[in-house]
Amino acid sequence: MIATTEWVEDHFIAGNLALDFANTVYRRWPEPGPDLFTDTETLNIWLTHTRLLPDGESSVTEAALEEARALRALLWTVFDVPKDGHTTIPAEALAGLLDTARRSIANLAVHPDGSTTSNDARGALAIVALSGITLALNPPPQGVRACDRCGWFFIDSSRGRRRRWCSMKTCGNQAKAARYRTTHP
Ligand SMILES: [Zn+2]
Repeated sequence: MIATTEWVEDHFIAGNLALDFANTVYRRWPEPGPDLFTDTETLNIWLTHTRLLPDGESSVTEAALEEARALRALLWTVFDVPKDGHTTIPAEALAGLLDTARRSIANLAVHPDGSTTSNDARGALAIVALSGITLALNPPPQGVRACDRCGWFFIDSSRGRRRRWCSMKTCGNQAKAARYRTTHP
């Protein structure tokens, strides 16, 4: 039995909604780690924490949880393009994001200022899909990066653009410790 995820700020380090959503596994490599969307409730809390769902809303069904996991896999494909050695984003992955958005477009509202609100979990997932499409079409100048150690995505807005880790607190320190062990046997 996997413990229910307690979402904390360290889970939201990507600097982008779709990337934070893509980072909801313990790690992506070297081997896939446990899913942080442990159940419908953890997904529900994630969606309210990110304000995609109003507080107190609990419309996450098992089907929505499945859809969330499928959406996350699509986001990995889209943003792993450099790692996978592709020169273009696979069309099926983009089509998948578009399908996710389109299926539930009636469950969300887009306001003239570009903000979005959703009235249920499917609408919230559609917003994540739209956010992924938006980022894919308007990537930051330095691209979308992935942590050397765990594969979590992030946008590197550090001054020197030399960020290698999702977080210094976790992977950065582990990498330092590992380096220390190899140089100090
Ligand atoms: Zn990491």
